Amino acid sequence: MLIIFGLRVLYRTIGQGTFHCQRCGGDREYRHRAGRRFFTLFFVPVIPLSKAGEHVQCAVCGTPYRMEVLSLPTAAQMQAALPAGMWAAAITMLRAGGASSARARRRAIDAVRGAGLADYDESALDGDLSASASPGHPGQDLATPLNRLTIQLAVPAREWFLAEAVRIGLADGMLSDDERHAAREIAAQLGMTPAQARGVISMTEEGASA
Ligand SMILES: [Zn+2]
Repeated sequence: MLIIFGLRVLYRTIGQGTFHCQRCGGDREYRHRAGRRFFTLFFVPVIPLSKAGEHVQCAVCGTPYRMEVLSLPTAAQMQAALPAGMWAAAITMLRAGGASSARARRRAIDAVRGAGLADYDESALDGDLSASASPGHPGQDLATPLNRLTIQLAVPAREWFLAEAVRIGLADGMLSDDERHAAREIAAQLGMTPAQARGVISMTEEGASA
């Protein structure tokens, strides 16, 4: 009797989600797939052997990608990154000082609107300022939205972003120590060096007093 045996890799889906497929050029569903080698007998997998790695596969075009592709932002995340980043920076600056100043609040609302949240207003700002006083609120988390933004901003755009935040702090007068600290923190989360941050902050201060 002839015995036919061999090896075969079988994949199963262990998760799914949305990612940016470079082949399709858009946000698509993906399947997270894990493989395992099987010993086959008469083409039937009978004995599971070692794991054969994991990958992500586009549900539309079928292109497989390494797992690292999931660390890249989707098109929707990139679009949301600027308003989310500006919002986080504006709340951070106002919490450092000027939350009760009409001019500083106006400046913050204009910055958030200009970044894409067209209907952001006084009552939304009030809600965010009181909510962000409690730990765990998104307003407390500066790192996540700014890091997500940083990967898509060129250096001049980061400087523009920081200057926008500094102008919120300057709207009610000179920067306080807390406001200066907040501006440096924003710069650091944007990947700027302390020297770059100092340059942008002092240029913005000179522009405001001129
Ligand atoms: Zn695709």
